[in-house]
Amino acid sequence: MHIILVCLLFAAGCAPVVFDSRLNASQAIWDNQPPGVAAEVQDRLVLVPVRYYGFDGRLHQGQVVIHRDLAQDIRMVFAVIRATRFPVESVIPVAHPLIQEQGVYGLSPDTNNTSAYVWRFAVGENRLSMHALGLAIDINPRLNPYVRGDLALPPGATYDPAVAGTLTADHPVVLGFRRLGWKWGGHWGSRGRVDPMHFQKIPRSLAAWVAKWRE
Ligand SMILES: [Zn+2]
Repeated sequence: MHIILVCLLFAAGCAPVVFDSRLNASQAIWDNQPPGVAAEVQDRLVLVPVRYYGFDGRLHQGQVVIHRDLAQDIRMVFAVIRATRFPVESVIPVAHPLIQEQGVYGLSPDTNNTSAYVWRFAVGENRLSMHALGLAIDINPRLNPYVRGDLALPPGATYDPAVAGTLTADHPVVLGFRRLGWKWGGHWGSRGRVDPMHFQKIPRSLAAWVAKWRE
């Protein structure tokens, strides 16, 4: 009898959610941070639970650490990600032990995990990344690699728009971000690099705050 009931629940779309990350806010924002991290930035971060379909076709729940002023944008974009069944590998904060295992402070580039906040410099630059301020997110990095000349991050990753989970200029997920005022790294070819995993947004009210951290 119980087995029949469980089968009916699955058929009705009640398959249990797969939890990829279940940190509390303190663990996600304050644990496993590199030296030099700024409490003034961490104080502005929030932990946003998000749901998405994985490459296994099942509904997953993960978490995004993001600047509080972008939390609602993240919820809206993940609604598009779910509605279009754009598959996402995992969405796990870099402070999570699973990500720390791959590189201390979550700084390993060799991952396909989607994440937003990480305290680090911009690739190839001497100033903080937009990720360090909680104002950028990278989606499915291994399928949407950063490429500059011979450098690809994650190492060895290749870009093939025909593969599910890959972002293109006309993809509803890219259009969804752009409608909310986010910039997409896939448009940065004129700067000598492309970064299709990357989205960022500086709300007008934060322009001076961002300039202070990135001067
Ligand atoms: Zn990025």
